[in-house]
Amino acid sequence: MGSFRGQLALAAVVVSAAVGASAAWASPLRVLIKDSPNKTQSNRTRATINGIVIHDTEGRFIGSVRVLQRAWTRGSAHFVVSRRGQIVQLVPVTDVAWHAGNAWWNLHSIGIEHEGWVGRRAYTEKEYRASAQLVAYLAHRWSIPLDRGHVIGHAEVPNPYRPGFFGGASGHSDPGPYWKWAHYMQLVRYYAAHPVLPKFVKRMTVLPDAPVPHAQLVTRAVVPVRHVVRRSTVDRNATVHGKALWWSGVTAATQWRRHIWKVDFLVDGKTIYTDHTWPYSFHRTIGWDSSSVGNGRHMLAVRTYGAHHYRTRKSVPVRVANPPLRVRITGAVSGGAVDGLLNIGARTNEPVERLALYVDGKPVSRDASPPYRLLWDTRTAVEGAHTMLVYARGKHGTHRAALTVPVVVANAPTFPPALARNWLTRRGLGDMLGRFDPEQ
Ligand SMILES: [Zn+2]
Repeated sequence: MGSFRGQLALAAVVVSAAVGASAAWASPLRVLIKDSPNKTQSNRTRATINGIVIHDTEGRFIGSVRVLQRAWTRGSAHFVVSRRGQIVQLVPVTDVAWHAGNAWWNLHSIGIEHEGWVGRRAYTEKEYRASAQLVAYLAHRWSIPLDRGHVIGHAEVPNPYRPGFFGGASGHSDPGPYWKWAHYMQLVRYYAAHPVLPKFVKRMTVLPDAPVPHAQLVTRAVVPVRHVVRRSTVDRNATVHGKALWWSGVTAATQWRRHIWKVDFLVDGKTIYTDHTWPYSFHRTIGWDSSSVGNGRHMLAVRTYGAHHYRTRKSVPVRVANPPLRVRITGAVSGGAVDGLLNIGARTNEPVERLALYVDGKPVSRDASPPYRLLWDTRTAVEGAHTMLVYARGKHGTHRAALTVPVVVANAPTFPPALARNWLTRRGLGDMLGRFDPEQ
């Protein structure tokens, strides 16, 4: 059902957009719509889809399409492109295909397989062009930026279990060193400027597989691109900070065998999130806010519920290391003189529940929303030395910070003899500038 809906939606867009299409293309791109059971029915939108992952089939076109259509493969891709430049769609773009070996990337990307091999110089110009036309169209349709941070190879997909490793969970290296990225991205940008609208068809003559070139020795290592955003991931003994991605570890195979219907996520023994949809991740793409607990060791756990009373509990010890809460103020400096109604601006490096100003240990002012302002009428205080303390409390109460600022209240036009030092008040500064005008 989901696939039918998705394809219809896609077809509708093509029809409405076709009016503005360039008529110069005699043989427009055609995409043969097929089906694969290897998908997660979803309702993805422009907001959900964020990238495109390039793969190779490691096999001939027709055979590969068939393999990806079999349930036991538990793998799929949205599209498969042949060396002859033909394209088959197996999963509607609105659904999740299982291709990246990384739940986050599966949820947020479109997977495109290319007939080819990591170790063979096999990609053809027809294949590059058909794929580039398709990608240019998809990028426009789903608002995907056309750069190498959003159009990446499977080899560049982060390994969800091993930070710093790539190629998804199983360390794939496709599309390999023979995939000409610069050439491909140039074509993609060309077709973005000269769009070719694909025609989605139910029937198409699939040409027999092109002859396959011999294997070559791979000598170059695949170097992952650097600008792929790395986020912390909840994993056994991992060090996490900020919002960390946290996947249940329930694979498609387990889901299928055990009929998992619920997954609880626990932090230090308390269930704080429950997910009912595969692949079961903590707040999906947002992740777990590690600043909700203090820095140090914490015991996270995942509890899985399946059919026939199937239950598992997996503990995931992690170390949380977030930067400490910091407060900065304007309007007063340590050791400086203050007078009149003091208006102190405060900034913090993370959202806080509230900020409070204490003078000599007594509360004077507080603010709960940015931009933070703290007020103190110094005219109510005796002349002389006082201690201001700005106190901040983090959103979850786990982070606190206190900033001590010694000041001298100097409201009287002349300092008391006890303070006969070179304190400079704002009023004093004004007087001084008035008396010694540098222009004169
Ligand atoms: Zn792949």
